[in-house]
Amino acid sequence: MTSLSPARKQYLEFKKQFPDAILMYQVGDFFETFDEDAYTTARELQIVRTTRSYSKGKERVPLAGIPKHALDNYIGKLIQRGYKVVICEQTSELQKGQDVVERAVTRILTAGTLSEPNLLPARQNNYLVAIAPGRTQTGLASVDVSTGEFQVTWFTPDELPVALDAELQRLAPVECLLVEGSNAEDYQFPSKSMTVTHCPAYFYQQEAAQTRLCRQFGVQSLTAYGCANEPQAIAAAGAIIAYVEKMNSALLSLLTALNSYSTKHFMILDAHTQRNLELLQGTRSGSLQGSLLGVLDRTITPMGARQLRRTITQPLLDLTELNGRLECIEELYESPAIRNRFTMSLQELGDLERVSGRIRQGTAVRNEVLGLRDYLAELPTLRDLLQSCESELLLAIADELDPCPQVSELIQRSLLHPDEELDEGDNGRLIRPGYHAELDELFNSIRDSRRWMISLEARERQRTGIKALKVGFNKVFGYYIEVSNANLKLVPDDYMRKQTLVNAERYITPELKEHEARILSAVENIEELERSIYADVLRQIAAFYPQLMTTAHAVARIDVLLSLAEVAAHQGYVRPMLEQGHRLDIVGGRHPVVEYTLDGDMFIPNDTHMEAADGERILLLTGPNMAGKSTYLRQVALISLLAQLGSFVPARKAQIGLVDRIFTRVGAEDDIASGKSTFMVEMEETATIINHATSHSLIILDEIGRGTSTYDGLAIARAVVEHLHNEVKARTLFATHYHELAALATELSHLRVYTVAISEDEADGIVFLHRVVPGCAERSFGVHVARLAGMPGSIVQRAETVLAQLETSQPGGGASYSLSHDTLQVARIAEADAVYKPAHSQSAAFSSVYWQSEAARRMAEAV
Ligand code: ADP
Repeated sequence: MTSLSPARKQYLEFKKQFPDAILMYQVGDFFETFDEDAYTTARELQIVRTTRSYSKGKERVPLAGIPKHALDNYIGKLIQRGYKVVICEQTSELQKGQDVVERAVTRILTAGTLSEPNLLPARQNNYLVAIAPGRTQTGLASVDVSTGEFQVTWFTPDELPVALDAELQRLAPVECLLVEGSNAEDYQFPSKSMTVTHCPAYFYQQEAAQTRLCRQFGVQSLTAYGCANEPQAIAAAGAIIAYVEKMNSALLSLLTALNSYSTKHFMILDAHTQRNLELLQGTRSGSLQGSLLGVLDRTITPMGARQLRRTITQPLLDLTELNGRLECIEELYESPAIRNRFTMSLQELGDLERVSGRIRQGTAVRNEVLGLRDYLAELPTLRDLLQSCESELLLAIADELDPCPQVSELIQRSLLHPDEELDEGDNGRLIRPGYHAELDELFNSIRDSRRWMISLEARERQRTGIKALKVGFNKVFGYYIEVSNANLKLVPDDYMRKQTLVNAERYITPELKEHEARILSAVENIEELERSIYADVLRQIAAFYPQLMTTAHAVARIDVLLSLAEVAAHQGYVRPMLEQGHRLDIVGGRHPVVEYTLDGDMFIPNDTHMEAADGERILLLTGPNMAGKSTYLRQVALISLLAQLGSFVPARKAQIGLVDRIFTRVGAEDDIASGKSTFMVEMEETATIINHATSHSLIILDEIGRGTSTYDGLAIARAVVEHLHNEVKARTLFATHYHELAALATELSHLRVYTVAISEDEADGIVFLHRVVPGCAERSFGVHVARLAGMPGSIVQRAETVLAQLETSQPGGGASYSLSHDTLQVARIAEADAVYKPAHSQSAAFSSVYWQSEAARRMAEAV
């Protein structure tokens, strides 16, 4: 290293400490990256990469830089893509005798330890998680350092990997801590760009972790946090503390408590189910569009939006709690005027939660603190509004709102609003006159000089007759009077030349020097004093952090309830009746997301009637592709889920026995990374369902056994259905193309066969009616769908010929023809429907009633 230039040496010293991060190295107005980092930033940020030599004859190194003012923007992009970024800033000017500017690392940024508001999505939590696997237990801790939310849960070996995958899917972490030597591939992370950080083993060492946690919370034991006897939970939470401390110890002040929770208190939604039901993300869009959240989110505040995300993935199991939420939503639903008033009030509130966090950290800027004062000022109105309601939940939330008058009063007394009009001599003050005597004195001491300075320009213009004369200030030369070359002849004698520019000269006068000396000597003290007073104001507010957080959470809850009530009112939802049993009775149910994307009344509602204990519990659904089978299956799952969020549901009436878990198994994709075939994935998912479902579960199977030969597939599907029917006894909806399975209706007393009706006629071909009716589909109409999809005519014709041959060559005709129509009560829907067209212009409710009576009549005829 001896032959390297001093600057290069300094850079390499820093880089050695952060081998796995991108080092942004300040050089004047730029932040430069070198070597490998330069290749990475140039590629990721689409910026130019060049080479640079540190001094003559020395090796040239790759370099890519970004201007200082654009730093945050570029850092944001790097972090989103999973990189860590270290900022190394110049800390002094080059001094005599030094051959390199002093520098220091000022920020270490990783996705999971960000608290800068401009680098974070406002309406989403930003979770850092730590996984601590062990022989008897696996711990999972998560933290959002921007909101202070810190929690931990743990799983037994037999709950793995399903329960852990489900939590990871729900939390969608941006960064995960794993112990050194462990393999990230062992876990299913929902985001590919998530940062994986390997930490030393001592981060996870249980005793050290426990000590660290106790020290953090200032306690002797972790009993109060509910995890004292959970070794891996302690290890995971302890690792988080160690990591946050290493990255940015100021953030530790936000972690005031650890919340232990069990996923058993919520309806379990495994990772597949969360994705299949498109709870937070539409599969096609990869964004909110097409997701349940996209429909439900009418929240107003950022913390409300974050809370709604959590609410959707944690449906409740407690009837009392659910009825409490429903009660409250009903009250809001019934009164548009009250909803309106709540909306107006919530619009006055910003991110109370994150602002409080930044105040606690000491990083909040003046405008954020002034914002807090405005939010607090709105709280009494919001509280009055809540107190005027009847629902117990709303009244309870009212009690949690604390407008913290001392905080408002303190902010009002101590901070100046930048737009407030003041005496000229007080311009630019941060702290309000009257708050701090010593500061006021310093300002008093220079007030006359500042006034003098402010009025100098006008005075000198008048005196000299130079209209373009300017008074200015810069750090090197101090205050000056500037006169352009054209006016130099008017310059009076008492001006002393200080600096020559291309087009102008700069001057000082003895009097100016005098006032300048007075101002400059005080300014440094003023700045320092203001900084310390401001920090002290933040500290005083931070003492109210617990109250502010409780208030923020209460606001988030109202916001979520209001959002659910708004959606219920606008989308025509009804209050579901919840009970402990196994019933699932839905009249006129709709798919909340599909209906949202269709115009007007285009969505055709459907009923569902199940009673797992002694009535129907397996609903076998046949029907051509595109008929609406998947939509129907998911609609039933989503209605149950919505009901257990305590939300109203898209139906005319719904009576639902609480569901402990929703399972879904729908069209698996090849898991190429793990070398598993579609069929293998499908069988694994099915096995999970068989092994974990209870009689209280709801199971959605969109086809099983398709990834293998017909006979294999059919055999497996049949065995699974029989097992679910006889042993598991869970409410099950099963969509299938194996029409042969319909024969099971004669053998399994709790199984019913339904189909999604179509009408077929000469002129229009097939029309999808999207209506679920008793009976079995006659054919799959796959060839018809191929035509709709734009398959070339020659192929469609050939397929029709082959199909006809296959059907005649099989004993008993095509697949479904082996069934006895009488025993299966198959309605001859296709024929009858030649006269029935889906009346989209009519109201959906009307066509529903029409259809049901029509189907019933035909059913009766068929038997
Ligand atoms: P399948 O699973 O039978 O192939 P889908 O459930 O995917 O069919 O539905 C296909 C399309 O039909 C959906 O994208 C939707 O636009 C429409 N659809 C489904 N159900 C309904 C309904 N009840 N009312 C109106 N349109 C529907």
